[in-house]
Amino acid sequence: MRIILLGPPGAGKGTQSERIVERFGIPQLSTGDMLRAAVAAGTPVGLEAKAVMESGGLVSDTTVVGIVADRIEESDAKRGFILDGFPRTVEQAAALDAMLARKGIALSAVVEFKVDETALLGRIAKRAEETAARGQPVRKDDTPEVFKTRLDAYRKQTAPLSDYYAKTGLLHVIDGMQPIDTVTQKTMSVLGQHAETAAS
Ligand code: AMP
Repeated sequence: MRIILLGPPGAGKGTQSERIVERFGIPQLSTGDMLRAAVAAGTPVGLEAKAVMESGGLVSDTTVVGIVADRIEESDAKRGFILDGFPRTVEQAAALDAMLARKGIALSAVVEFKVDETALLGRIAKRAEETAARGQPVRKDDTPEVFKTRLDAYRKQTAPLSDYYAKTGLLHVIDGMQPIDTVTQKTMSVLGQHAETAAS
């Protein structure tokens, strides 16, 4: 099963991903996590991405498409994967389509979490607080100022993907303002319909 999770920062993609990983045993491929790891390791990709990420902008399509293309070649992704935070632009979506077509595989579903933007700022503040309370480093882009830029980037560059995937018939929209467990239940119910393809 190959799934894309869509939704603005703070919509719950990470939390729902963890639960899908547990249920279906497919890996979560988060471009944000991969880029943060590259920044921490000081790789060429990390050096390119660092400042852009800290300002809340988007890393170049070429770079991100490249890391995803490499990652989905790894053995754990053969049975499927969850893409979290990718694609983020229509160009990335088109590049993904071409990449999957070359490999002779297809997406199973796109799940979009719709959320009320005014509530997101509160969620992000909570995520930063909880991370700090666990003694873990807080993401530099989880500040109110940078968050606004990230939300703006989402609205302008990523929101059009909703129409893009609606046209392919792959899109399922879920109200992400519901309690976390309800969102999980609805997500699992959507994905359950595709579980048969997951086995193939
Ligand atoms: P995220 O963890 O998904 O919120 O991503 C954190 C940051 O990484 C974003 O604000 C971007 O700067 C960068 N990033 C993650 N995924 C992508 C992507 N698909 N395209 C461009 N930039 C990305």
